Amino acid sequence: MLDALEMLGPEELERYSRQMLLRPMGGTGQIRLKKGSILVLGAGGLGCPALLYLVTAGVGRVAISDPDRVELSNLGRQVLFHHQMIGERKAEAAARVLHCLNPNVKIDVLPERLDGPHLGRLVSACDVVIEATDSFDSKFAVNDLALKLGKTAVIGAVLGFSGQITTVRGGERGCYRCLFEGPPAADEARRCQDAGILGAVAGIMGALQALEAIKALLGVGDLLLRRILQLDGLGSGFRQVEFRPRPGCSACGGAGRASARF
Ligand SMILES: [Zn+2]
Repeated sequence: MLDALEMLGPEELERYSRQMLLRPMGGTGQIRLKKGSILVLGAGGLGCPALLYLVTAGVGRVAISDPDRVELSNLGRQVLFHHQMIGERKAEAAARVLHCLNPNVKIDVLPERLDGPHLGRLVSACDVVIEATDSFDSKFAVNDLALKLGKTAVIGAVLGFSGQITTVRGGERGCYRCLFEGPPAADEARRCQDAGILGAVAGIMGALQALEAIKALLGVGDLLLRRILQLDGLGSGFRQVEFRPRPGCSACGGAGRASARF
Protein backbone atom coordinates (compact mmCIF):
# COMPACT_ATOMS: atom_id res chain seq x y z
CA MET A 1 0.00 0.00 0.00
CA LEU A 2 2.98 2.25 0.55
CA ASP A 3 3.68 2.08 -3.20
CA ALA A 4 0.12 3.11 -3.93
CA LEU A 5 0.37 6.08 -1.63
CA GLU A 6 3.61 7.16 -3.28
CA MET A 7 2.43 6.75 -6.88
CA LEU A 8 -1.21 7.79 -6.50
CA GLY A 9 -2.13 11.17 -5.13
CA PRO A 10 -4.92 11.69 -2.57
CA GLU A 11 -7.35 12.64 -5.32
CA GLU A 12 -6.64 9.42 -7.20
CA LEU A 13 -6.90 7.30 -4.06
CA GLU A 14 -10.36 8.68 -3.44
CA ARG A 15 -11.40 8.57 -7.10
CA TYR A 16 -10.51 4.89 -7.44
CA SER A 17 -11.40 3.86 -3.88
CA ARG A 18 -14.32 1.61 -4.87
CA GLN A 19 -12.46 -0.42 -7.44
CA MET A 20 -9.35 -0.55 -5.23
CA LEU A 21 -11.47 -2.51 -2.76
CA LEU A 22 -11.56 -5.34 -5.30
CA ARG A 23 -9.29 -8.17 -4.33
CA PRO A 24 -7.36 -8.46 -7.59
CA MET A 25 -6.98 -4.67 -7.81
CA GLY A 26 -5.86 -2.96 -4.60
CA GLY A 27 -3.11 -0.36 -4.76
CA THR A 28 -0.82 -2.61 -6.81
CA GLY A 29 -3.46 -3.16 -9.47
CA GLN A 30 -4.31 0.54 -9.62
CA ILE A 31 -0.64 1.34 -10.23
CA ARG A 32 -0.53 -1.29 -12.97
CA LEU A 33 -3.44 0.48 -14.65
CA LYS A 34 -1.68 3.82 -14.23
CA LYS A 35 1.44 2.45 -15.90
CA GLY A 36 -0.66 0.90 -18.68
CA SER A 37 -1.08 2.17 -22.20
CA ILE A 38 -3.98 1.31 -24.50
CA LEU A 39 -4.48 2.11 -28.17
CA VAL A 40 -8.13 2.36 -29.19
CA LEU A 41 -8.82 2.13 -32.91
CA GLY A 42 -12.17 3.72 -33.67
CA ALA A 43 -14.08 6.18 -31.49
CA GLY A 44 -17.49 4.93 -32.62
CA GLY A 45 -20.18 2.69 -31.16
CA LEU A 46 -17.67 0.31 -29.57
CA GLY A 47 -14.81 2.73 -29.00
CA CYS A 48 -16.82 5.36 -27.09
CA PRO A 49 -18.00 3.07 -24.26
CA ALA A 50 -14.62 1.30 -24.19
CA LEU A 51 -12.81 4.63 -23.79
CA LEU A 52 -15.27 5.76 -21.15
CA TYR A 53 -14.50 2.80 -18.90
CA LEU A 54 -10.76 2.75 -19.57
CA VAL A 55 -10.35 6.40 -18.68
CA THR A 56 -12.61 6.36 -15.65
CA ALA A 57 -10.78 3.24 -14.39
CA GLY A 58 -7.50 5.19 -14.46
CA VAL A 59 -5.52 3.63 -17.31
CA GLY A 60 -2.44 5.84 -17.50
CA ARG A 61 -2.30 6.55 -21.23
CA VAL A 62 -4.91 6.14 -23.93
CA ALA A 63 -4.42 6.81 -27.64
CA ILE A 64 -7.54 7.42 -29.73
CA SER A 65 -7.42 6.87 -33.46
CA ASP A 66 -10.34 7.88 -35.68
CA PRO A 67 -10.24 9.81 -38.97
CA ASP A 68 -13.94 10.74 -38.98
CA ARG A 69 -15.97 13.71 -37.79
CA VAL A 70 -19.01 13.56 -35.55
CA GLU A 71 -22.31 13.25 -37.45
CA LEU A 72 -25.89 13.49 -36.25
CA SER A 73 -26.45 9.82 -37.09
CA ASN A 74 -23.65 8.87 -34.65
CA LEU A 75 -25.33 10.24 -31.54
CA GLY A 76 -27.61 7.24 -30.97
CA ARG A 77 -24.69 5.06 -29.93
CA GLN A 78 -21.47 7.08 -29.74
CA VAL A 79 -22.03 8.21 -26.19
CA LEU A 80 -19.07 10.56 -25.81
CA PHE A 81 -20.53 13.02 -28.32
CA HIS A 82 -23.34 15.54 -28.20
CA HIS A 83 -25.11 17.88 -30.58
CA GLN A 84 -22.67 20.76 -30.35
CA MET A 85 -19.82 18.47 -31.44
CA ILE A 86 -21.28 17.70 -34.88
CA GLY A 87 -18.58 18.39 -37.45
CA GLU A 88 -15.69 18.09 -34.99
CA ARG A 89 -13.04 15.43 -35.34
CA LYS A 90 -14.12 12.46 -33.22
CA ALA A 91 -10.68 11.82 -31.73
CA GLU A 92 -10.42 15.44 -30.54
CA ALA A 93 -14.00 15.67 -29.24
CA ALA A 94 -13.64 12.35 -27.41
CA ALA A 95 -10.36 13.43 -25.82
CA ARG A 96 -11.96 16.64 -24.53
CA VAL A 97 -14.81 14.79 -22.82
CA LEU A 98 -12.52 12.10 -21.44
CA HIS A 99 -10.14 14.70 -20.01
CA CYS A 100 -13.07 16.21 -18.10
CA LEU A 101 -14.00 12.78 -16.78
CA ASN A 102 -10.49 12.03 -15.57
CA PRO A 103 -7.71 14.61 -15.98
CA ASN A 104 -5.14 12.14 -14.62
CA VAL A 105 -5.14 10.16 -17.86
CA LYS A 106 -2.79 11.14 -20.70
CA ILE A 107 -4.72 11.09 -23.96
CA ASP A 108 -3.06 10.98 -27.38
CA VAL A 109 -5.23 12.21 -30.24
CA LEU A 110 -4.73 10.53 -33.62
CA PRO A 111 -7.34 11.96 -36.03
CA GLU A 112 -6.35 9.58 -38.80
CA ARG A 113 -6.83 6.06 -40.09
CA LEU A 114 -3.84 4.03 -39.01
CA ASP A 115 -2.24 1.43 -41.18
CA GLY A 116 1.15 0.22 -42.37
CA PRO A 117 4.31 1.10 -40.44
CA HIS A 118 2.57 3.89 -38.52
CA LEU A 119 0.09 1.42 -37.04
CA GLY A 120 2.97 -0.94 -36.28
CA ARG A 121 4.84 1.76 -34.34
CA LEU A 122 1.75 2.63 -32.27
CA VAL A 123 0.92 -1.01 -31.51
CA SER A 124 4.53 -1.50 -30.52
CA ALA A 125 4.32 1.44 -28.09
CA CYS A 126 1.20 0.26 -26.22
CA ASP A 127 0.34 -2.66 -23.97
CA VAL A 128 -3.11 -3.48 -25.31
CA VAL A 129 -4.96 -2.60 -28.52
CA ILE A 130 -8.73 -2.35 -28.70
CA GLU A 131 -9.92 -2.86 -32.25
CA ALA A 132 -13.26 -1.08 -32.42
CA THR A 133 -13.60 -0.02 -36.05
CA ASP A 134 -16.03 -1.32 -38.66
CA SER A 135 -13.13 -2.28 -40.93
CA PHE A 136 -12.37 -5.97 -41.38
CA ASP A 137 -8.96 -5.06 -42.82
CA SER A 138 -8.14 -3.23 -39.58
CA LYS A 139 -9.13 -6.25 -37.47
CA PHE A 140 -6.82 -8.56 -39.38
CA ALA A 141 -3.99 -6.02 -39.38
CA VAL A 142 -4.28 -5.58 -35.60
CA ASN A 143 -4.42 -9.35 -35.09
CA ASP A 144 -1.23 -9.85 -37.09
CA LEU A 145 0.65 -6.97 -35.44
CA ALA A 146 -0.32 -7.96 -31.90
CA LEU A 147 0.94 -11.49 -32.48
CA LYS A 148 4.13 -10.28 -34.14
CA LEU A 149 4.90 -7.67 -31.48
CA GLY A 150 3.88 -9.69 -28.42
CA LYS A 151 0.88 -7.50 -27.54
CA THR A 152 -2.70 -8.20 -26.50
CA ALA A 153 -5.52 -7.19 -28.83
CA VAL A 154 -9.24 -7.20 -28.09
CA ILE A 155 -11.17 -7.38 -31.34
CA GLY A 156 -14.87 -6.55 -31.37
CA ALA A 157 -17.72 -6.29 -33.84
CA VAL A 158 -21.43 -5.52 -33.73
CA LEU A 159 -24.18 -6.12 -36.23
CA GLY A 160 -27.86 -5.45 -35.62
CA PHE A 161 -28.79 -6.94 -32.25
CA SER A 162 -25.69 -9.11 -32.01
CA GLY A 163 -22.07 -8.60 -31.14
CA GLN A 164 -18.91 -10.58 -30.65
CA ILE A 165 -15.44 -10.16 -29.17
CA THR A 166 -12.31 -12.23 -28.94
CA THR A 167 -8.82 -11.58 -27.58
CA VAL A 168 -5.49 -12.51 -29.11
CA ARG A 169 -2.08 -12.33 -27.52
CA GLY A 170 1.47 -12.60 -28.83
CA GLY A 171 3.00 -15.96 -28.00
CA GLU A 172 -0.41 -17.65 -27.87
CA ARG A 173 -1.81 -19.82 -30.60
CA GLY A 174 -5.33 -19.25 -31.78
CA CYS A 175 -6.18 -15.90 -33.34
CA TYR A 176 -8.65 -13.95 -35.45
CA ARG A 177 -7.23 -15.54 -38.60
CA CYS A 178 -7.87 -18.98 -37.14
CA LEU A 179 -11.52 -17.98 -36.86
CA PHE A 180 -11.81 -16.19 -40.19
CA GLU A 181 -9.08 -16.73 -42.75
CA GLY A 182 -9.34 -13.24 -44.15
CA PRO A 183 -11.65 -10.26 -44.66
CA PRO A 184 -15.00 -11.03 -46.34
CA ALA A 185 -15.66 -10.09 -49.93
CA ALA A 186 -16.41 -6.42 -50.52
CA ASP A 187 -20.16 -6.95 -51.12
CA GLU A 188 -20.52 -9.00 -47.91
CA ALA A 189 -18.61 -6.35 -45.93
CA ARG A 190 -20.91 -3.70 -47.40
CA ARG A 191 -23.99 -5.72 -46.38
CA CYS A 192 -22.65 -5.82 -42.81
CA GLN A 193 -22.13 -2.07 -42.77
CA ASP A 194 -25.65 -1.47 -44.10
CA ALA A 195 -27.34 -3.85 -41.66
CA GLY A 196 -27.91 -1.32 -38.89
CA ILE A 197 -26.87 -1.27 -35.26
CA LEU A 198 -28.50 -0.68 -31.88
CA GLY A 199 -26.67 1.59 -29.44
CA ALA A 200 -27.26 -0.57 -26.38
CA VAL A 201 -25.67 -3.58 -28.12
CA ALA A 202 -22.60 -1.55 -29.04
CA GLY A 203 -22.46 -0.23 -25.46
CA ILE A 204 -22.39 -3.75 -24.00
CA MET A 205 -19.71 -4.98 -26.38
CA GLY A 206 -17.54 -1.85 -25.96
CA ALA A 207 -17.73 -2.18 -22.17
CA LEU A 208 -16.70 -5.84 -22.50
CA GLN A 209 -13.71 -4.78 -24.60
CA ALA A 210 -12.67 -2.36 -21.83
CA LEU A 211 -13.04 -5.14 -19.26
CA GLU A 212 -10.80 -7.46 -21.28
CA ALA A 213 -8.17 -4.74 -21.64
CA ILE A 214 -8.24 -3.94 -17.92
CA LYS A 215 -7.88 -7.65 -17.04
CA ALA A 216 -4.96 -7.91 -19.47
CA LEU A 217 -3.19 -4.95 -17.80
CA LEU A 218 -3.84 -6.36 -14.34
CA GLY A 219 -2.91 -9.92 -15.33
CA VAL A 220 -6.04 -11.31 -13.67
CA GLY A 221 -8.96 -13.45 -14.74
CA ASP A 222 -9.44 -15.41 -17.93
CA LEU A 223 -9.07 -13.59 -21.21
CA LEU A 224 -11.09 -14.58 -24.26
CA LEU A 225 -8.13 -16.39 -25.81
CA ARG A 226 -9.20 -19.07 -28.29
CA ARG A 227 -12.79 -18.15 -27.41
CA ILE A 228 -15.29 -15.88 -29.02
CA LEU A 229 -18.02 -14.34 -26.89
CA GLN A 230 -21.23 -13.70 -28.78
CA LEU A 231 -24.19 -11.61 -27.66
CA ASP A 232 -27.68 -12.37 -28.90
CA GLY A 233 -29.39 -9.14 -27.93
CA LEU A 234 -32.87 -10.19 -28.99
CA GLY A 235 -32.65 -13.54 -27.19
CA SER A 236 -30.97 -11.91 -24.15
CA GLY A 237 -28.18 -14.45 -24.14
CA PHE A 238 -24.44 -14.82 -24.39
CA ARG A 239 -22.63 -17.82 -25.69
CA GLN A 240 -18.96 -18.64 -25.77
CA VAL A 241 -17.49 -20.72 -28.54
CA GLU A 242 -14.05 -22.18 -28.10
CA PHE A 243 -11.92 -22.64 -31.16
CA ARG A 244 -8.67 -24.37 -31.87
CA PRO A 245 -5.72 -22.93 -33.74
CA ARG A 246 -6.03 -23.45 -37.45
CA PRO A 247 -3.26 -25.66 -38.80
CA GLY A 248 -0.72 -23.56 -40.62
CA CYS A 249 -2.32 -20.22 -39.64
CA SER A 250 -0.21 -17.52 -41.26
CA ALA A 251 -0.46 -15.24 -38.21
CA CYS A 252 -0.08 -17.44 -35.12
CA GLY A 253 1.48 -20.54 -36.68
CA GLY A 254 -1.36 -22.56 -35.24
CA ALA A 255 -1.19 -26.34 -35.26
CA GLY A 256 -3.79 -28.95 -34.53
CA ARG A 257 -7.30 -29.67 -35.68
CA ALA A 258 -9.28 -26.76 -37.03
CA SER A 259 -12.38 -25.62 -35.18
CA ALA A 260 -15.88 -25.19 -36.44
CA ARG A 261 -16.29 -22.18 -38.71
CA PHE A 262 -18.45 -19.17 -37.98
ZN1 LIG B 1 -4.09 -18.02 -35.99
